[in-house]
Amino acid sequence: MTAIAPWASHPAASRGRLHPEGEGTARGPRDDFQRDRDRIIHSISFRRLRHKTQVFMAPDGDHFRVRLTHSLEVAQIGRTIARVLGLNEDLTEALCLAHDIGHPPFGHAGEDALKAALADAGGFDHNGHTLRTLTHIERPYPRFDGLNLTWEMLEGLAKHNGPVRHPGWALREADAAFSLDLTSHASLEAQVAAIADDIAYDNHDIDDGLRAGLLTLDQLLAVPIVARGWDAARARFPDIAPRRLAHELVRSQIGTMVNDLIEETRRRIAASGVATVDDVRAAGQALCGFSPAMREEERDLKRFMYANLYHHPRQLAAADAAHGIVRGLFAAYRDDPATMSPEWATDVPADEPARSRHIADFIAGMTDRYAIARYRELVGDIDLPEGF
Ligand code: MG
Repeated sequence: MTAIAPWASHPAASRGRLHPEGEGTARGPRDDFQRDRDRIIHSISFRRLRHKTQVFMAPDGDHFRVRLTHSLEVAQIGRTIARVLGLNEDLTEALCLAHDIGHPPFGHAGEDALKAALADAGGFDHNGHTLRTLTHIERPYPRFDGLNLTWEMLEGLAKHNGPVRHPGWALREADAAFSLDLTSHASLEAQVAAIADDIAYDNHDIDDGLRAGLLTLDQLLAVPIVARGWDAARARFPDIAPRRLAHELVRSQIGTMVNDLIEETRRRIAASGVATVDDVRAAGQALCGFSPAMREEERDLKRFMYANLYHHPRQLAAADAAHGIVRGLFAAYRDDPATMSPEWATDVPADEPARSRHIADFIAGMTDRYAIARYRELVGDIDLPEGF
């Protein structure tokens, strides 16, 4: 393994955990970031990602990504980058595995529905909910709520997309409990995790879009980065069938993006003169990023994916139905909180906004299929459109 860089996060220099955990007792072979990663993997919220939408809702096809397999792909890409750059691989991996834990069922459609339902209760956002889940809702330990993750984990999750100048209520709550310096940049490990997320979905959504028949290769060739990759793949394998070559295209495009990111990040680190992780936080700009040329190309790809896949009529119809399910569940539980599962139906707060947030916490934790089943039971049958 590459020697760890001076600007990396080091577990021995961690700012620690909110709740002391018997310092001085036998700690076993793992350091604090490895323990954080393992706490994520062993959590209920992580297991539920296997039945949560990435792009395709409650997918029947076993080959489509779900939040869990997406998170594993993000972790693979993140670890590769972290290792090459001499960053802490374990913290990077833990951040990658945890980054989507706050997503409600049905992806962004579910998030929009909860945002609307909590409009008078401060709103809802999946990243704030990741912090709320990990500091409040998960309860595996006898003496405190949450997973009691290190400060570096919580900081990285809170700020992985950059400094947070206008935190929502859930982030403010986490920040009030354990100050996260929200207006500075996060560690390089968190910056890597954020871009590994983009690299993973930019590419696996092409693969899944082709598999679902919502995208065609011909269409994709209008995107410059894809066209270049395709020409290179055709030149290397002129006699291979297009469908098989599409895998090669996606594989090599991940490599192209990762290599660009590594080179540009090395350049920025050297130019910035950072010597420690606190210098990284105070650098005033993200040090991990694509080169300007790749950033443009990646933006073009995202624009294409929004227009042709994420906003495909079939996806929009599925999102409408999903929105209706979450909206219907929220209304049903607000009318009769006793219909929530027993551990949620006890302890329903009497006052707003705590009451609405409690109901939203319950719904946000649901898998797609659990939400559909509860909706059918409480509200009525629903004809799910194609795309579910
Ligand atoms: Mg993600």
